[in-house]
Amino acid sequence: MIILGVLFSALTSFRAGGPRPRPSQRSAIRTIVIDPGHGGFDTGTKGLDISEKEVTLAVSLKLGALIAEAFPDIKIVYTRTTDVMPGGGSTIASGLNYRANLANKSRGDLFIAIHCDNDGHLAGPFTVHKIVGHKYVGKGKRRHRVAIYDSYVGHHTRAGTEVFIWKASRGGTKSGVINQLGEGEGEVSDSSGESNSDSAAFDMNSPEAHMRAELYEKKFFANSALFATLVEDEFGRAGRNAEGVYQRDVGIRVLEATGMPSVLIETGFLSNVDEEKYLESEDGQNEVARNILSAIKRYKATLEGHPINNVDSPAAPKPF
Ligand SMILES: [Zn+2]
Repeated sequence: MIILGVLFSALTSFRAGGPRPRPSQRSAIRTIVIDPGHGGFDTGTKGLDISEKEVTLAVSLKLGALIAEAFPDIKIVYTRTTDVMPGGGSTIASGLNYRANLANKSRGDLFIAIHCDNDGHLAGPFTVHKIVGHKYVGKGKRRHRVAIYDSYVGHHTRAGTEVFIWKASRGGTKSGVINQLGEGEGEVSDSSGESNSDSAAFDMNSPEAHMRAELYEKKFFANSALFATLVEDEFGRAGRNAEGVYQRDVGIRVLEATGMPSVLIETGFLSNVDEEKYLESEDGQNEVARNILSAIKRYKATLEGHPINNVDSPAAPKPF
């Protein structure tokens, strides 16, 4: 579940567009940052038996192990590997800042946040009160309209996956982060390398800075969208209800603040009994991790100029 400002009106379904990635001779991905959502005092959403923070950690560790096996040269950075709030702070905001700063300091080439969703109600029975009409009561000046309510037991039918990406736009936090990364393929341009994300060395208001920020935003946006699309494609091939890729311009601070292609994956609904069982099981967690790994393989190959189809499925890939 995304905890910051869930403004669904800001959601727009993603359509393919933007520049294609340039082919590159070297490995397109050297560092992947895996961010298990929530942790410690922040449980995230809850199923009947398991909480989001447990699922996100289990899936993240399985994903990291699969990546290490498939690509021994890729460095894996976890924002947490145990049940803690990353950074050890006492607020969710401090954890989000820590996650983003760690990703930036690690010079990640891809940021993957793992989460679970709910349908607006926690798991288990819930009562829905719905207005089914109106009636007038009272007489004379006291006569007024009141709502007629009906109550019924709700059902958790919503299931499936969604992937969120940050919406490219001028200005805002991401411009700052992108701008400070300097020139080169996501590399910090100063010689000291680390810990310069708060540096004021760059004139943020110069025309060059704006142009560079815009360029990077577009580049990260296209690659974020490409990877997100591949993740959803893999979930769909596995038989999941892949609801699609969505872009947002507010409320996903951990994506806003990372100066690299970044996605937030909602791996399923813990409010749905069947999906909770799936996400709680070793088989389910392994499948989710394998699906994301397949997407990473296709993403990496595409960036390196030799796109591959899904190796496990004979179906033709959907065009990006
Ligand atoms: Zn969450």
